[in-house]
Amino acid sequence: MSALYRQLPAIDRLLKTEFGTQLLATFGHIATVNMMRIQLEKAREQIKQHQQLPDYCQTEQSFLQHIQQQLQQQRQVNIQPVHNLTGTVLHTNLGRAIWSEAAQQAAVNAMRQNVALEFDLQQGKRGHRDQAISELIARLTGAEAACVVNNNAAAVLLMLATFAQGKEVIISRGELIEIGGAFRIPDIMAQAGCKLVEVGTTNRTHLRDYAQAINENTALLLKVHSSNYQIVGFTTSVSEEELVQLGKEKGIPVITDLGSGALIDFREYGLPYEPQVQQKVAAGVDLISFSGDKLLGGPQAGIIVGKQEWIDQLQRHPLKRVLRCDKVILSGLEATLRLYLEPENLAQSLPTLNALTADLTQLTENAQQLQQALQQKLAERFEIAINNSDAQIGSGSQPTAKIPSIAVTLQPKSTKSEDLYQLVTQLKTLSQPIIGRIEADKLWLDLRSVADIEALLTTVNEL
Ligand SMILES: *Cc1c(COP(=O)(O)O)cnc(C)c1O
Repeated sequence: MSALYRQLPAIDRLLKTEFGTQLLATFGHIATVNMMRIQLEKAREQIKQHQQLPDYCQTEQSFLQHIQQQLQQQRQVNIQPVHNLTGTVLHTNLGRAIWSEAAQQAAVNAMRQNVALEFDLQQGKRGHRDQAISELIARLTGAEAACVVNNNAAAVLLMLATFAQGKEVIISRGELIEIGGAFRIPDIMAQAGCKLVEVGTTNRTHLRDYAQAINENTALLLKVHSSNYQIVGFTTSVSEEELVQLGKEKGIPVITDLGSGALIDFREYGLPYEPQVQQKVAAGVDLISFSGDKLLGGPQAGIIVGKQEWIDQLQRHPLKRVLRCDKVILSGLEATLRLYLEPENLAQSLPTLNALTADLTQLTENAQQLQQALQQKLAERFEIAINNSDAQIGSGSQPTAKIPSIAVTLQPKSTKSEDLYQLVTQLKTLSQPIIGRIEADKLWLDLRSVADIEALLTTVNEL
């Protein structure tokens, strides 16, 4: 064993070789030496456990090559691009909406330069961070003003903390939702320091249920859009209009967590109906919150719209400072919203809408190209076909609505189920991993959620 230890190269010597000098010039002394130490330590461990030298320690050359590889790998970012073939267009685990060109450009500008973030160029005095977006959203939704925070969960927290701390908030039992990732309405209420008052039953809540629960401690009536599930059958819920009427009579504000929050009528694009922000504004809801990276198709953000005096109060709350967005996000969001001023171009300019509205002829053409590319590599092991598929919007929009789509399916020719999982792993180790979904003993590669078909075909060539 000690003979094996003696065969390990010495760092000093390695650094003096031509290859070692090259590594120093590329990666610097600290990183190079650290990596050599780590790999030597691993080698010693292997000698101890298995009484053998790892392959990379056979020669100085092989050791240095190994170090170079490891150092290159260390430079790579872990949050790497993937091809989304899950069929879920807004996939939370894959980063939701893809930004429009305009949003990307605005964000890059903000990264590279100083921007007039809290600076009013017209009047030359200190402006407000959310000002530009507030005016735009007002135009688009009919609300008086807007407040922008880190995400919609933060928006709900801020609204509750500002207007209901130490007080009661009334909500229907049918709307006590969990969105996933620890966003549960009761928990957010507790964090905001308010008392949850549940009314009605899971499937039926009436206006009188709210009315009976109101007392002198009631601060808000809260509506939450049941994004990721649906209650069907014998159901009743109270509309915003009715709740606003009740709120007016009793002097209690009504707020809505809308979740996705569409700014356009999705039915006009042949898509399932999703409640629109402007409708809730028109219904007289005092504050409405929604996400920036769901159907809106922009960066992660939480947007609250409502009356100026209410928004002003949110802006003054200390939590707003904690939850505010940075210049890059705000720039990307502003550019995204500006696209809505030219709605005829939206299906072209907004990647989310583009994916949701892509026609089946186009998807079939893309599927044929993908099928061909896969056949060249995998035809021996898999039956590769084109199938009709059901895509989804994702991120809690219309969970039960299926959007017609086209998928390439791969079914192992053998009866071994490992073959399918091996393929899944193989696709995940490509330079840009390909993520599909398994259903009915096949791997489904759904074309509806693909952002870049050319890039996908290039990646498949690596197989
Ligand atoms: C998605 C969603 C949230 C959370 O929004 P994030 O932007 O992910 O923080 C809250 N409420 C509802 C109803 C939602 O659909």
